[in-house]
Amino acid sequence: MSATIIDGKAIAAELRGRIAGEVARLKAAHGIMPGLAVVLVGKNPASEVYVRNKSKAVTDAGMNPVDRYLPESVSEAELLALIDALNADPAVNGILVQLPLPPQIDSQKVIAAIDPAKDVDGFHPLNVGKLGSGLPALVPCTPLGCIILAKKAKASLAGLDAVVIGRSNIVGKPVAQLLLAENATVTIAHSRTRDLAAVCRRADVLIAAIGKPEFVRAGWIKPGATVIDVGINRVPGDAGKTKIVGDVAFAEASAVAGAITPVPGGVGPMTIACLILNTLRATCAQNDVPAPNLDLSGSNQPHQLSRLPPA
Ligand code: NAD
Repeated sequence: MSATIIDGKAIAAELRGRIAGEVARLKAAHGIMPGLAVVLVGKNPASEVYVRNKSKAVTDAGMNPVDRYLPESVSEAELLALIDALNADPAVNGILVQLPLPPQIDSQKVIAAIDPAKDVDGFHPLNVGKLGSGLPALVPCTPLGCIILAKKAKASLAGLDAVVIGRSNIVGKPVAQLLLAENATVTIAHSRTRDLAAVCRRADVLIAAIGKPEFVRAGWIKPGATVIDVGINRVPGDAGKTKIVGDVAFAEASAVAGAITPVPGGVGPMTIACLILNTLRATCAQNDVPAPNLDLSGSNQPHQLSRLPPA
């Protein structure tokens, strides 16, 4: 058996195209141009690449990128003052502060300072709490992307056994909440889980967000399962170069799984597409415009995500 490859790159491109169409309609009908502010502190080359990619995606969607670069030495007070200014700026509908931040800055304080209505990362405690309570919220981008990809393979997740490996605030916990909202039976596994392989073998949907290269082996996967690999790990490749692999041993896992995301080209591209989606939803909510109904599942099943209100 060979798994269906869930092509995150193509699915993200399609989603970004639909968002661009909705942005054009928003402009034509209401004269509204969504703006996304990305704040980057310091000179982390990986973060600079992310920020450049995000700006390009924002521009491609017809939105306005507002990039703010601050020096590594910036004080917490200066960063908080910038957040206040962005909160008050009507041309800015979404705010993302690139993490990690330097040690003199308390990340939680910065996240809590972002207007929850502009919190397109979905990390503000109010949005985290709303998601946990099943209330409309801006939800974190990578987890949202995972669910959209899982639903490409299985139109309904209701009643399925879903196992999430990883319990971070960025991926593991919110993806578990979203799976619950899809009526899956959810297990969150982590570094203290006993017999992880046996826990994983129960999963109809397995989401790996660990940060350990090719950690999940073929023998951990239930035949026919849908496997979503969130991991981004740099390992030595050919000719002294590095290559990127996921948390799942892709080649051997593909022989057992029913559907699987590749790395790169799986969850990664969906993260940026969902950031753009959240910016669109936030813009609509801030302007009392109904959120567009994007068919995110690609199936003819009613799709819970497409009914998620914008903020
Ligand atoms: P994290 O380090 O915050 O969390 C890792 C989790 O893995 C922890 O909850 C821990 O309990 C669990 N874990 C660690 N060792 C384990 C073990 N031996 N057995 C079982 N569980 C174990 O990482 P994160 O921020 O959640 O990111 C996870 C991975 O996803 C990383 O590779 C990261 O680069 C990647 N990531 C990708 C995207 C994307 O856009 N594709 C976005 C965010 C994170």
